[in-house]
Amino acid sequence: MTRSYVREARRRGLGRRRERIGPIVDRLAAEHEDAAIALRFRTDVELLVSVMLSAQTTDVNVNRVTEHLFSKYRSPEDYLATPISELERDIYATGFYRQKAKAIRGAMRVLLDDYEGRVPTRLDDLLRLPGVARKTANVVAAELGHAQGVVVDTHVRRLSQRLGLTRQDDPVKIERDLQRVVPRSDWARFPHLLIWHGRRVCIARRPVCEACAVNDLCPSSRVDAARSPAP
Ligand code: SF4
Repeated sequence: MTRSYVREARRRGLGRRRERIGPIVDRLAAEHEDAAIALRFRTDVELLVSVMLSAQTTDVNVNRVTEHLFSKYRSPEDYLATPISELERDIYATGFYRQKAKAIRGAMRVLLDDYEGRVPTRLDDLLRLPGVARKTANVVAAELGHAQGVVVDTHVRRLSQRLGLTRQDDPVKIERDLQRVVPRSDWARFPHLLIWHGRRVCIARRPVCEACAVNDLCPSSRVDAARSPAP
């Protein structure tokens, strides 16, 4: 069961989620000015393909593969004109290459049939593409400047819980909580801030609370725990 850092925030007198979120966003933004998507792409179609390839692998790995891939496949038609076995070979290193090749070709087919070869920006349209689930759709929409939700990956999940922004464990429910508390204008950048903070400071097994810019706003801070009286 998820430990309730929401209750802990109340116990430590840290203020409500809505009062803490502003300074949390501002301080993380100052701390991680370079927080942005790590995938490399030049066009909307490349963005979509990169995000689809990033499932179950690292962004570094995807960038290594797409460096060659995107010089060979320049349009949705190119993915359909190439035999699927060749596309599978070209994306092999990202893992799950059979499912990914099938999904990418399916998505390209829908782009050509229904969207004049362009990547749609509405979440509902993105979710119609084969192989595109909510997280992928949210990442693509946000990068295209039309965030309609909050991306929840493993870092966002862990940090949202530790910061007492949600009691939930399920990504869909966590997203709903974040949509309630994070200002809409920050929906696109907020996940990047948590992801980079999670990689650099609030590491899964060993959070560096002493060096954390939001440790006075965080109910799971070890620094605050040492200061606060025992319950
Ligand atoms: S204070 Fe510690 S647990 Fe809280 S966000 Fe910072 S590093 Fe993570």
